[in-house]
Amino acid sequence: MRLARKAVLRGAAALAVALAVQPAVGEELTLVGAITGPDHQTYRELAFDVPPGVRRLTVAFEYDGKAERSVIDLGLRDPRGFRGWSGGSKAGFVVSETDATPGYLPGPLPAGRWALLLGVPNIRSGVRAGYTAKINLERDERFSGFATQPLKGGPGWYRGDLHLHTGHSDAFCPAQSGVRAPCPTFRTLEAARARGLDFVAVTDHNTTSQAQDLRALSAAYDQLLVIPGREVTTFFGHANVFGPTAEIDFQLGSSRAPGLDPILDQVERAGGLFSINHPGLPSGEACMGCGWSVPDTDYRRVQAIEVLNGGVLSQFKGDDRPLSGVPFWESRLNEGLRITAIGGSDNHDATLASDQPSAVGYPTTVVRARELSQAAILDGLRAGHVFIDAAGSGSRWMDMQASSDGRTAEMGDTLLVKPGHRVRLDVRLRGVAGGTLSLAGSTPVVLPTECRTVASDDTACTLELTLPPGRRWLRAEVRGPDGRLWLFGNPVYLAGDNAGAGRGR
Ligand SMILES: [Zn+2]
Ligand SMILES: [Zn+2]
Repeated sequence: MRLARKAVLRGAAALAVALAVQPAVGEELTLVGAITGPDHQTYRELAFDVPPGVRRLTVAFEYDGKAERSVIDLGLRDPRGFRGWSGGSKAGFVVSETDATPGYLPGPLPAGRWALLLGVPNIRSGVRAGYTAKINLERDERFSGFATQPLKGGPGWYRGDLHLHTGHSDAFCPAQSGVRAPCPTFRTLEAARARGLDFVAVTDHNTTSQAQDLRALSAAYDQLLVIPGREVTTFFGHANVFGPTAEIDFQLGSSRAPGLDPILDQVERAGGLFSINHPGLPSGEACMGCGWSVPDTDYRRVQAIEVLNGGVLSQFKGDDRPLSGVPFWESRLNEGLRITAIGGSDNHDATLASDQPSAVGYPTTVVRARELSQAAILDGLRAGHVFIDAAGSGSRWMDMQASSDGRTAEMGDTLLVKPGHRVRLDVRLRGVAGGTLSLAGSTPVVLPTECRTVASDDTACTLELTLPPGRRWLRAEVRGPDGRLWLFGNPVYLAGDNAGAGRGR
């Protein structure tokens, strides 16, 4: 948030001044005052003005006198009416267009005179309790996340599911009676917790009504990073947007969004990450718009492609090859673009058994991030520091590094290679004994036998390559003895001195 200016207002006597204050958006307004004995069992309304265009209002409230059993309750009123009450249970709250702290009502934030409601159930005579209310007003469409702190500090590989539906769109699961009913959001988070995932993105079709559930649940699931998302579902293709809760058009082909670019403009303004879903699917009456056929897509504005979709895996009993998104993605790489390959379960029933494709976390996308926070996970996805644990094993792991002339790059990075110079490739694997490692890329590379067959659960393969000049990419994957995909790595990109970095965004 930006603090352009601070306004500090003191006491009830200063209300006349408060009414005159028109805080700039993104600024903090501070209301300071005190209650004393005569305020016992009375209410006070602290007025403040909200300018047009505010999307999110955050209140942080402190008061003293608690040792003397003073209590100040909190509530909120907007120019039209009541917006919520938390009594003495919360030291602050958020109200936004899509979500609000439990006890408060999400919805538009109309401009005009608002009031912070104070109730005084208890203050002893002769006691003075000073209070400070800090009110922050934001207009920004970007959303930094429900959690205000990282859930885990420090760099690591974090495991998550980036494609999940709830009863806010077309997910159904057994109700108490056994009939199938819209599946409540908590079941999705509970399945993710049971699987040991570090993060989820909940991506209902076109709506953000799930954001209110997510805000409420994220307080209870405080070790599971909950990233708001949605599946922008058009007649010409589906794409997940991760991060923002702001409105984004989906009526592609209508006057609202004649082409994809206005939608991508909205996504970028809101700081979202745009990922094309299941592009290998055909499109037709069985699944309208499931394949990607959006004309004139500017792939430089696409950060990720879902190469492995749990729904497709489920359709083919776990075989990833039919209707795979990999050829579509690799075509983009061969055009010189760098787009991150991800997976998503596309779960539509959170009670699905965990060993079934399309269960929550099947597949799992694993992201190397500086910490477990929304910003860090989205940055890791953008950077391509990502592999897919195809069956959501929770234990299979891979890393790949390329180096040349003392420079090193990992999956998602670009390595500058001087013409004719050798590249050293290091692939490290865990938990995949009995599997088969292979490389794919713009230039075919056949691995020596000792690298191909993975002998132990902790192994490494190193090889030296000389590649033709120009932009290249190389990625690793591991398959089980039955040919089923276990691990799928993002490429290391190799650029010649004159070839440029090749990042098309
Ligand atoms: Zn879809
Ligand atoms: Zn979906």
